Amino acid sequence: MKTKNVQIDCPQCGHSLHLLLDYSQGDQDYYEDCSNCCHPIHIAMHVDVEHKRLALRINADDEQYY
Ligand SMILES: [Zn+2]
Repeated sequence: MKTKNVQIDCPQCGHSLHLLLDYSQGDQDYYEDCSNCCHPIHIAMHVDVEHKRLALRINADDEQYY
């Protein structure tokens, strides 16, 4: 299992969340509840094998690379 720790900001309240992403299974699409405001955060993870990086899309309007 390949995992990576990333930090994201909740789009609702700005609270920093730590996620442990398992990218050995390929792309993932799920919801994570913010531990501060309990708002569900839509997380779409795309594994870019060619460039060996992860693309995270949070609520479809904010893309971050790790
Ligand atoms: Zn929040």
